[in-house]
Amino acid sequence: MSDAVQRLQQVRERIAAAEKEAARQTGDVILVAVSKTFSADDIRPVIEAGQRTFGENRVQEATSKWPALKAEFPDLELHLIGPLQSNKAKEAVALFDAIETVDREKIAAALAAEMKKQAKAPKLYVQVNTGSEPQKAGIEPREAVAFVARCRDVHGLAIEGLMCIPPADENPGPHFALLEKLAREAGVDKLSMGMSGDYELAVRFGATSVRVGSAIFGSR
Ligand SMILES: *Cc1c(COP(=O)(O)O)cnc(C)c1O
Repeated sequence: MSDAVQRLQQVRERIAAAEKEAARQTGDVILVAVSKTFSADDIRPVIEAGQRTFGENRVQEATSKWPALKAEFPDLELHLIGPLQSNKAKEAVALFDAIETVDREKIAAALAAEMKKQAKAPKLYVQVNTGSEPQKAGIEPREAVAFVARCRDVHGLAIEGLMCIPPADENPGPHFALLEKLAREAGVDKLSMGMSGDYELAVRFGATSVRVGSAIFGSR
């Protein structure tokens, strides 16, 4: 068994334990295995071990690895979890099954146009910059609810949930709680939050998916 497959099983067990502790159903939380920087050969054993949902943060890198893997394993689900430029909307809609980083009007418009053109409907999440960090992507928390409504009413996009990346040097709990509150106010029910260092905490705060990279694939 590869190291990554062993670590995948451990992460799965820890998610199941956190679900139980939070009185949630086993299997409630989707594990998005974040495979950025790892090669198709590193990823394949993890797919063969049953993992089906993966996350990548760059359109270009994903385009070089995933079309072949998706042809080999047709039931994979690929999530874009990194910033999207509007000139990459075409490629992103063509490749990804979910785009978690909708965070401004221009991207919403570009995605709406491409989805129509390609007759494809990836699941969409709005990224919220819960820590209002200047260098980080995501919409400001105070604008998030209105932005979700504009995605729906102006651009005709069905937003399924919210996503956040808490500041690296802060307790993530309050950020998870804020995302949960904003999702309730915006009327969406999916929460993508929690990474290698804090996914069990995120499960306690109501995450419906966690994005775990290094705890599965090793350090980058
Ligand atoms: C890289 C990345 C992750 C995974 O981070 P780890 O700490 O390796 O688990 C999760 N979410 C986003 C947006 C990322 O870019």
